[in-house]
Amino acid sequence: QSQEFSQVRIDYHGALLALQEHGTRMVCTGKMHTDRICRFDYLCYCTEAEEFVFFHSNASVMLPNLGPRRFQPALLDLSSVEDHNTQYFNFLELPAAALKFMPKPVFVPDVTLILNRFNPDNLMHIFHDDLLPIYYTMQQYSDLDDEARLVFMEGWGEGAHFDLYRLLSSKQPLLKEQLKTFGKLMCFTKSYVGLSKMTTWYQYGFVQPQGPKANILISGNEIHQFASFLMERLNVTQEEGDDYIVVFKRTTNRLILNEAELLLSLAQEFQMRTVTVSLEEQSFDSIIQIISGATMLVSMHGAQMISSMFLPRGAAVVELFPYAINPEQYTPYKTLASLPGMDLQYVAWRNTMEENTVTYPDRHWDQGGIIHLEKEEQERILASKEVPRHLCCRNPEWLFRIYQDTTVDIASFLDILRETLKKPNLKKAKVASTVHPGRVREPKCQTSVQATNEAKLSVSWQIPWNLKYLKVKEVKYEVWIQEQGENTYMPYILPHQNYTFSENIKPFTTYLVWVRCIFNKNLLGPFADVLICKT
Ligand code: UDP
Repeated sequence: QSQEFSQVRIDYHGALLALQEHGTRMVCTGKMHTDRICRFDYLCYCTEAEEFVFFHSNASVMLPNLGPRRFQPALLDLSSVEDHNTQYFNFLELPAAALKFMPKPVFVPDVTLILNRFNPDNLMHIFHDDLLPIYYTMQQYSDLDDEARLVFMEGWGEGAHFDLYRLLSSKQPLLKEQLKTFGKLMCFTKSYVGLSKMTTWYQYGFVQPQGPKANILISGNEIHQFASFLMERLNVTQEEGDDYIVVFKRTTNRLILNEAELLLSLAQEFQMRTVTVSLEEQSFDSIIQIISGATMLVSMHGAQMISSMFLPRGAAVVELFPYAINPEQYTPYKTLASLPGMDLQYVAWRNTMEENTVTYPDRHWDQGGIIHLEKEEQERILASKEVPRHLCCRNPEWLFRIYQDTTVDIASFLDILRETLKKPNLKKAKVASTVHPGRVREPKCQTSVQATNEAKLSVSWQIPWNLKYLKVKEVKYEVWIQEQGENTYMPYILPHQNYTFSENIKPFTTYLVWVRCIFNKNLLGPFADVLICKT
């Protein structure tokens, strides 16, 4: 293994001199530890102490130079999960002169991205917390290219889907455990530490009950492009041909007990072929292949549903929830499907019939067992009809309910599909435009006074500059009129480029007028500079 960065590829003596003379250099982006990514020259890692080391010399740079605030609580988050206290990054400091007394460093010549995976045994976490953030962090820094080296510092083994991480670069990713095999002191010639959180859409409930992130910055476009990248790397091409429905089943827990009946009813209702897949029976690659051509994906709530990102535009996602679980409170897959530009239809079905659920009170707590709890608490849970809102991750009532098996009531299941799904839309890749209008140009106002209690205000403007290059189905304008000094305004939606207002317009009054353009009802443009109009 230690042959891997054969030290011939770099001038070892030169690198050692550079480290001794220049020390470590760090420049970061981000104001807070939660939005920071740092780029380093000669960041080192001591495998015995399991600490990163910053070597100070006269030429060292440390930006931001936070002093002791570097420990409040950390320099940055190593994973994409925000401010999780097991995922903090920091380094120890040493004078470069100390190198004389230390083991000879091994230099890593590759440009390296250093990060923590959050939970590499769970597919949702793998995609949402690791793969997407890694992919788009690499897009952000051009030297993190296909030759980049990924280093995972969370300390886990490869995990069940390590092959997916391998797709992100041509170099084998390194695990923390493997670093030891290279020597006692490793120095990364060029490295980036931390991950972009720009792509994440869900928070898992560490400080408040789980739910969509407050400020989602990713759209379906970036998800689809990432999915295409992975499919290309996997040599998977979208399946063409007839329409079919995929039921993604779990085989060890949270089962659908009447799977055959469910498949039959789906086939009859939609007059389509149905297929089942499971992680136990197919490779993930072949599952992606199947899902990428599907018209509908049906599955119990669970990490396997992250595969819905490979569905074609227009397809439907149907998520099933066991008894006493409120779908509104567990929405990682609903949020994904509903991202603008994702172009998926989403339907949730929940089991409301207690006789159709099978519980497992005797199981281990992490599979939802409750017999370790006080008798009263067990009885309360068994009597409860809905799991109350709760924090992650060990709430026994939540685990008890989410690991139930379910007989799906076909009538209520089909009802909700009929209600929600727009049939003609199924798999029709109708990509909506996301081009926003520019500012309206040359806004003007003219006023006239008719009588002591009667005045007119005419506003006109030119179309936004980009409109003449676009085919837009519906162009409208929004005008806000505010009497100076008042804190409310009157909004108007107008079809043309001018309008004369006379209602509610008073003589000898100053009005502030804002105008903006709207494409297709919901694509809002910016307001033009405010007009000051005196009657
Ligand atoms: N898993 C699976 N089949 C099963 C149960 C779980 O493939 O019968 C997978 C699941 O997709 C996830 C991992 O095992 O990637 C962990 O599942 P868990 O139930 O812990 O998490 P959840 O699916 O609720 O996120």
